[in-house]
Amino acid sequence: MYPDKKGYFLNFGGKFVPETLIVAINELETSYAYFKKSKEFRNKLNYYLKEYAGRPTPLYFAENFSKYLGFKIYLKREDLAHTGAHKINNTLGQVLMAKMMGKKRIIAETGAGQHGVATATAAALFKMPCCVYMGKEDMHRQSLNVFRMQLLGTEVKCVDSGSMTLKDAINEAIRDWVSNIDTTHYVIGSIVGPYPYPMIVRDFQCIIGKEVKKQILRHEKRLPDYLVACVGGGSNAMGLFHPFYRDKRVKFIGVEPAGRGLNTKEHGASLCKGTIGVFQGAKSYLLQDKNGQIQTAHSISAGLDYPGVGPEHAYYKDIKRAQYYAVDDKTTLLGFKFLSETEGIIPALEPSHAIGYLIKHKKRFKKLDIVILNLSGRGDKDIDIVKEHLV
Ligand SMILES: *Cc1c(COP(=O)(O)O)cnc(C)c1O
Repeated sequence: MYPDKKGYFLNFGGKFVPETLIVAINELETSYAYFKKSKEFRNKLNYYLKEYAGRPTPLYFAENFSKYLGFKIYLKREDLAHTGAHKINNTLGQVLMAKMMGKKRIIAETGAGQHGVATATAAALFKMPCCVYMGKEDMHRQSLNVFRMQLLGTEVKCVDSGSMTLKDAINEAIRDWVSNIDTTHYVIGSIVGPYPYPMIVRDFQCIIGKEVKKQILRHEKRLPDYLVACVGGGSNAMGLFHPFYRDKRVKFIGVEPAGRGLNTKEHGASLCKGTIGVFQGAKSYLLQDKNGQIQTAHSISAGLDYPGVGPEHAYYKDIKRAQYYAVDDKTTLLGFKFLSETEGIIPALEPSHAIGYLIKHKKRFKKLDIVILNLSGRGDKDIDIVKEHLV
């Protein structure tokens, strides 16, 4: 079972970090191996996931949507978790672990602000000072999330280098970490970065798939035919997929952002259109030019606007365990509107890509198919963007 001891998912992953970070990365690896087995840690985390974050989240049979599509569709309601998305599963795990490791301070990066808010939330809960790096451009676009983090007692640091977005915020966070390694834990928000992060974040997000397995067996007395999720860095998708890895008849579909079109430069489809390279600590597919310069990603949803993808997805792509498709902004808006109107659930723009995929390609599925869609977050945060496009 991957990752192997060197942190590889077959050909992808690894830890491509400067020497100054190796000590911290190795400490994290050892600590995680310990806490993963610790009953005390697991009991505490389960307590907070249940009583604080509201888990298990429902697996809802979407009857109206199913009638329209012509097959059975269930929604895993991560939008109902505290703070409105799956990200809390990971931040509660990492911040609790940091606390038990004796760390004094939390840092994180954030793009749209969702991971920043989830980290700020966990930091407030576990009484840890917190500092979140955010690109200047993103701070403008997501000013409400900046204020949310501040309300939660977090310091938001403005990053005005490079494209002033997520990848630059990650670079700054790493710089901070290098200088404060003894006291500080860096909370990464997706299954990206150097080993052991892709494994740690995946393990914390696997609660999604583990719950789904129990729930679908209760509802249908059998496993589903398809699991469908949007892929940015890939944590909500892997959290759903991974517990079904050995269930070969369960097919995985990951949906990337095609933005303004896969033939333009304005998309974020690293798996569908990217090439192999090393970026932010790991080897994976990424959007780069001929000289290996990282390209700027685009998506209508800020949460998928990232030029790389978790190495485990690169592995799933190569061994064909999962299939990856891309859906453009327009189809995403269609999905957003459709779920709101048919089910009374306003989805985030990220999972609206997966919804759009099902609507557009419903003919690919059979009448008796059972499909589970990961509704990774709620749409309140996206109302302004959608208003610009739909009204
Ligand atoms: C951040 C985010 C994503 C994308 O991140 P993954 O690591 O790919 O899951 C998807 N959906 C929502 C609601 C998010 O906030």
